[in-house]
Amino acid sequence: MKLKSMFLHGFKSFARPTRLNFADGITVIVGPNGGGKSNIVDAVRWVFGEQSMKQLRADEKSDVIFAGSASQPAAQSAYVELVFENENETISVARQLTADGKNTYFLNGQPARLKDIREKFEGTGIGVEFYSIVGQGQIERIISSSPEELRVLLEEAADIHVYKERKKEALENLERVQNNLLRVSDVINELD
Ligand code: ATP
Repeated sequence: MKLKSMFLHGFKSFARPTRLNFADGITVIVGPNGGGKSNIVDAVRWVFGEQSMKQLRADEKSDVIFAGSASQPAAQSAYVELVFENENETISVARQLTADGKNTYFLNGQPARLKDIREKFEGTGIGVEFYSIVGQGQIERIISSSPEELRVLLEEAADIHVYKERKKEALENLERVQNNLLRVSDVINELD
């Protein structure tokens, strides 16, 4: 799964509609300090439902909406769309927040729940809590993380996480069935 393009309008310093297309390979974004490079990463986190204001480098939820400048009035909403592509499909995910606080997520152009978006990307390693976004200072954190923390990271990268979740569900089902069996054998014993 690859991020092919991004569209930002009214998000942080991106007052004007801005499209970024990412070619195959590595893309490097350069620019002056305070030019908005990190805001692009914040936008990706935001679309995937980042809850931490610290991670978004904001105080209030509404801080992601362009606050206005000497030449432009404040925006009425922030909108970010991400377009991903894999071998067989193109997926668009987007989020909009209006100045009056209405928040909407979109999956392929249709309003959706954040849960739907997370499910769609399950096992791809894409999302806020995974390794796909490595922020400033995080490399240092990874280097100094415990073996247990590193294992979680590697398992996610290797897609094992999904199977662990399924195994957990299967074991819970098994336990339920075993309890039912016990109950049935109690009833049989009573009848005997
Ligand atoms: P550096 O190289 O120093 O890390 P950067 O290119 O990563 O900088 P960002 O941190 O992405 O820059 O952008 C910071 C800029 O975004 C600041 O000028 C800040 O005023 C602006 N900004 C952040 N939120 C808003 C907002 N809601 N409205 C308008 N501008 C905003």
